[in-house]
Amino acid sequence: MAEKLMKYADAVAKYDPVFGLEVHVELSTNTKLFCPAHIEFGGEPNSQLTPVSLGLPGSLPVVNKTAMDYAVKLGLALHCQINEWSQFARKNYFYPDMPRDYQISQYDKPLNGEGYLDVELDDGSIFRVPIERAHVEDDAGKNTHLGGADGRIEGADHSLVDYNRAGVPLVEIVTKPIEGAGDRAPEVAGAYVRAIRDIVRSLGISHARMEQGNMRADVNVSLHAGPDTPLGTRSETKNVNTFKGIEKTLTYEIRRQAALLESGGEVLQETRHWDESTQTTAGGRVKTDANDYRYFPDPDLVMVHVTKDHIEELKAEMPEMPRERRARLKQEWDFTDRQMQDAVNADAVDLIEETVKAGATAAGARKWWLGEISREANSRGVTLQELPISAQDVADVEQLIAEGKLNDKLAKQTVSGVLAGEGGPAEVVKKHGYQVVSDDGALDAAVDQALKDNPDIVAKLKSGNMKPMGAIIGAVMRATKGQADAKAVNKIVMQRIAQ
Ligand code: ADP
Ligand code: MG
Repeated sequence: MAEKLMKYADAVAKYDPVFGLEVHVELSTNTKLFCPAHIEFGGEPNSQLTPVSLGLPGSLPVVNKTAMDYAVKLGLALHCQINEWSQFARKNYFYPDMPRDYQISQYDKPLNGEGYLDVELDDGSIFRVPIERAHVEDDAGKNTHLGGADGRIEGADHSLVDYNRAGVPLVEIVTKPIEGAGDRAPEVAGAYVRAIRDIVRSLGISHARMEQGNMRADVNVSLHAGPDTPLGTRSETKNVNTFKGIEKTLTYEIRRQAALLESGGEVLQETRHWDESTQTTAGGRVKTDANDYRYFPDPDLVMVHVTKDHIEELKAEMPEMPRERRARLKQEWDFTDRQMQDAVNADAVDLIEETVKAGATAAGARKWWLGEISREANSRGVTLQELPISAQDVADVEQLIAEGKLNDKLAKQTVSGVLAGEGGPAEVVKKHGYQVVSDDGALDAAVDQALKDNPDIVAKLKSGNMKPMGAIIGAVMRATKGQADAKAVNKIVMQRIAQ
C-alpha cells in the first residue's frame, strides 16, 4: 500500500529534519580483521576462509595491525579523538551470515572518538558534520535468497551463504544527529558520503566502490518542529548503497514522516529499507529495545594499544586531503568556483592534473575534458577514464595547436579520431592528412578566389565595415577543407583591401 507523502517544500517549511548516518567502509587489507584469510572481491564462494572466519570452536582471533593503522588514518582525517587504548566487544545476535552468532565490534571504548568533517556543498559553502565515533568491526557474510521474485528473503524457497566477506575489516563512522541543514539535508548527506569516499580513496585504505558493497550507509531520519524542541522519533533505513539512494531516502522519509505527523499519526522507531525499483522506503522490523545486543568485552582479545608515537608516524604518512587538494589546484589553475565544481562533478580533476603535468595549460586541459570528451562520455554512458583517450593525448593535441600545426577545427577532428579508436593524435593527424594551410601560395589563391566571388563584401570591407570578414574566412575555410589558419587568412584579406 502506497504511503501518503507531503510535498517536499511543504514538509521542510513545516518541520526541521534531523538525520544521522552510519557509514560502513570496508578496508582494503589483504587479509581479514582477525585471521590471515585472503580477501578478494568476486572469489569463488566460501574459498576465503579460516577456522576463525567460520567461528569454529577453539579458533582464536588476532588483530590485523594494518587494519588498525588504516582506521587510525581515517580517524585522523575525520579529526577524531584517537583513543590510545581501545577494546573489541561482542555484539550478540543470530543470523546465518554471522557464523559466530556475535559480531566483533567496538562498544564503549572505540578506536576513534568524537570528530567532524567539513563538507563542501554545490554552491561552494561548507557544512560541518559532527562525528560521534568511528570504530572498527568485522563484516558478516552474504546471504543470497533464491526462488523468489525479487531476491528478498520473503517469497524465497532457499538461501545460500557465502562467508568470504565474513571477517573483512570495516570502519563504521557514526555521526551525531545532524541538525540545521533544513531543506538541504539530502544534499548534505550526499556530499558527506562522497567526501568520505574521496578521503578513503586518497588514503588508499578502501576501494570505496559502492556497487561492490565496499561502502554502505544506514540513514536515520526524524522531524521536529524546530531547533528548540526535542528530537522526534527516527526511522533507520539500512544498507543504502548508492549516493543517489542516500539522498532519495532522506527526501522520501522527510515527506513520509511529515504526512504522518500532519495527519496526527506517529513515527515508529523502526528499521526500513530503500527499494530502488519503487523509489520508496518500506517498513521492516520495529525496534522495541535498542540495547538487545548484550555487548561485552571479547575475552579472546586483549585491549589494543596505539601509542602516541605511532599515531605521529601515521600522521606523517597522511597525504593531502581531497578538499585541501582541490582548493590548492583551483588556485594553481586559476579556475573559478564554478569551473572547479564542474571539474569535480565530472570526476575530471585527476585527468586535468595529469594533462597539465604532460605539458598542457590548465585552461586547455579543462576545455577538452569538460567539453568534447565529456560529451562523448555522456553519449556513450561511460566515465571519462573509460574512453580511449589519455591525458598525454590531450596534451599532445594542445601542443600541436600551440605549434600552429592544428587549428581549432582540426584539433576537434583529431580528438574525435582518437576517441574513435584511430590511435594517438600524431597517427590521426597523419592518417587524415590534417594540417593547417598557412603557406602563402595556397592561401593567397584561396583568398583571391573568395574576394573575386564576393564583390559586394569587398566593397564593404574597403569602406571600413569589417562585419562581413567572417564570410570571407568561411569561404576560404570551405575551399581549404577547414585547414586554413584563420589568422593568416585575416592578414592576407587586410593586405588585399588596403591595395
Ligand atoms: P543505533 O545503535 O540504534 O543505530 P545510535 O544511537 O548509534 O543508534 O544512532 C544511530 C544514528 O542515528 C546516529 O548517527 C545518530 O546520530 C542518529 N540519531 C540518533 N537519534 C536521532 C534522531 N532523533 N533523529 C535522527 N537521527 C538520530
Ligand atoms: Mg544503527
